[in-house]
Amino acid sequence: MPAEFFETLSNNAIPPIYRFFNGKDWVESTSGNRIAIQSPVDGSVVGEIQVVTPSEIDEALTRNVDAQKKWEATPLNVRVKIVHLAADWVMHYLDYLAVLLAREVGKTISEAKSEIKRTAELTDYFADEVQSIRGETLDSDNFPGYDKGRIAVIERVAHGVVLAIAPFNYPVNLAGSKIAPALLMGNSVVFKPPTQGCISGLHLTRIFQKAGVPEGVISCLTGGGQEIGSYLVSHPKVTMVAFTGSSDTGMAIARIAPMKPLLFECGGNNATIVFPDADMNLTATEIIKGGFSYAGQRCTAIKYVMGTQGVLDQLLPVVLKEMEETTNLAGPVITVQVAENIEKIIKDSVAQGAKVAVGGHRKDAYIEPTILTHVTPSMNIVSTEVFGPVISFIAVGDMDEAANIVNGQRFGLQACVFTKDEGTGLKYAKLLDVGTVQINGSPQRGPDHFPFLGVKQSGVGVQGVRYSLEAMSRIKPVVINKPQ
Ligand code: NAP
Repeated sequence: MPAEFFETLSNNAIPPIYRFFNGKDWVESTSGNRIAIQSPVDGSVVGEIQVVTPSEIDEALTRNVDAQKKWEATPLNVRVKIVHLAADWVMHYLDYLAVLLAREVGKTISEAKSEIKRTAELTDYFADEVQSIRGETLDSDNFPGYDKGRIAVIERVAHGVVLAIAPFNYPVNLAGSKIAPALLMGNSVVFKPPTQGCISGLHLTRIFQKAGVPEGVISCLTGGGQEIGSYLVSHPKVTMVAFTGSSDTGMAIARIAPMKPLLFECGGNNATIVFPDADMNLTATEIIKGGFSYAGQRCTAIKYVMGTQGVLDQLLPVVLKEMEETTNLAGPVITVQVAENIEKIIKDSVAQGAKVAVGGHRKDAYIEPTILTHVTPSMNIVSTEVFGPVISFIAVGDMDEAANIVNGQRFGLQACVFTKDEGTGLKYAKLLDVGTVQINGSPQRGPDHFPFLGVKQSGVGVQGVRYSLEAMSRIKPVVINKPQ
């Protein structure tokens, strides 16, 4: 029963006061500071979370360090079993977790279920894949001037203590995608959930604990990123930082984590480029899905569409018609304040010459799904990441101009190209300075074993099942000189 399984997480009042996990016990902070988490759906309080103190961070990290070596020495088959069990528990509580997540971050139940299910599947896949990660040996005589006098035995070892920081938009999945590979590679984990999404993150932590992750190997420290983030990131006991969030936060973290390995997934303002021979129906469907699902609050959401004026004139009516025929296109954005900022950016763009083809209005935390035309690349709506359901249409003279616009952005996560000729798409993809190019499909992260990365200010390092496992470990050569 969920009530028993998760009982220790809170005082079970209505609304509950949640505790944090110091690696050993679920406790309230001595700070006496708490943050009330309000649902973006209706403003109701989902619960209160603790703001931990520096000495509570020190205490949890000391436990993380003390427990790590023993955990790394635990046979891999045991670690694999624990992580598989965690995946089973996630699936077991799918409905319960989905209701909580939907309320906490404003997803539909089906979006929330899909995030939870994906987390379980990803966790399982990590636990399977880790069994084929292995080291290698190298002989010395390959290199000129060396005989067979040396053998390098190259093992994969843990970094130590991985700080996992997740964003509000996928607080369960993007926590699991860090915690599972970090644990499987023998690291201990200090997890900092997003404030909005924290309660779901605490539940995930409890699942890993109940699955058998030993004392000290995982902790979950809560509080605002602005308040506790810098102390955590720069803490000498944190060996590696795995972060998903905005580019601005990523840059701030990178500045205070010198010489620590970083694995960052940051912001994006992903472009769609439409060739004249594109299938306009498919393009329209993918633009709507890519731009408006989860109210555009996805790092891989489509933010602007480019084509020649003639192509956009053909495409726009198809998009508008399909939008008209679709109900419940977008739910709320994460807070009323974020919605107000988006509304302002729309108004500023209009003042600079953009035209509203559809949408543009706000009510509370809800922004109408919006399409703007006559947008130019220098407008803020393009050059910043607008985390909401707004898509800009930009007319270009030719496809080279479109590539230059993509390459001139500070972000470089994904781009998508629509053409019936995949050869054209492949050739064009070479011009685009982004992590991944999708041909005839909207930008997306999955399937999760594909490599996923951002260039420029969109990220550092590569994720995707095998790639994440490798990133959560390092190689350690031991050289045998003059083998007998
Ligand atoms: P955010 O404001 O940057 O926060 C991300 C996480 O960092 C949260 O846990 C936040 O805690 C924490 N944080 C904030 N300031 C910090 C600091 N100074 N030191 C350490 N941690 C700090 O991002 P968000 O609004 O939650 O998420 C949306 C952003 O994430 C978008 O830019 C989106 O593109 C990006 N994202 C990228 C990917 C990808 O795969 N590339 C995937 C999903 C999301 P608090 O919540 O407590 O402030």
